[in-house]
Amino acid sequence: MRTIGLIGGMSYESTADYYKIINKLINSHYGGHTSAKIVLFSVDFGEIERYQSEGKWDESALILIDAAKKLESIGADMIALCTNTMHIVADDIQENLYIPFIHIADATARRIRNKSITKIGLLATRYTMEMDFYVDRLRSHGLDVITPEVIDRKIVNDVIFNELVHGIMDANSKHKFVSIANDLVSKGCDGIILGCTEIGMLIKSEDIDVALFDTTQIHCEYLVQQAIR
Ligand code: GLU
Repeated sequence: MRTIGLIGGMSYESTADYYKIINKLINSHYGGHTSAKIVLFSVDFGEIERYQSEGKWDESALILIDAAKKLESIGADMIALCTNTMHIVADDIQENLYIPFIHIADATARRIRNKSITKIGLLATRYTMEMDFYVDRLRSHGLDVITPEVIDRKIVNDVIFNELVHGIMDANSKHKFVSIANDLVSKGCDGIILGCTEIGMLIKSEDIDVALFDTTQIHCEYLVQQAIR
């Protein structure tokens, strides 16, 4: 079994999900008392969030590169970032590593294409929805990506930062997310990407009529495939 290096803490709520999901998947593969080999570097999200809102991506890249190199030096065989947003610096991280960086959008896009879906809606932070790094990565896999209207993007972003990263699941916010997702479906989307690692805490497959692609779950499944290969 290979060792998975996780850079987490963005937020610690979803990093806890990564830890649990990966262990459950490894255990169901090997059985018995087997659990995953994981090394985790959990960063201070306060610092990362401040750099995000100030647009200081180079500063946050330095923190994440440092974390990745430390994980590599203590035996990680691959590195994953437990967040979609900070994939804005994915190339910087990979350039500083000898081991592979497992990109969350690549794993997600492959899963979507395997289901023969091309038109897909994206719910995520405003950075992930509005900057090019993530949508372009999905488009490079042949996907047609639709994001919500500006007012809805603000709602989704505010709920992520004010509620979900603090572990708050609010029924009213869930209702808003479902309605925003349904609006994307009415525009022709055959699936919705939960492109923020905390959204899966709020909405589930049974809440939406089209396929949901939860990036946390998909990323973990892909990491486990690489670990057991
Ligand atoms: N975990 C979130 C994501 O997947 C948002 C937190 C962050 O901005 O890093 O994008």
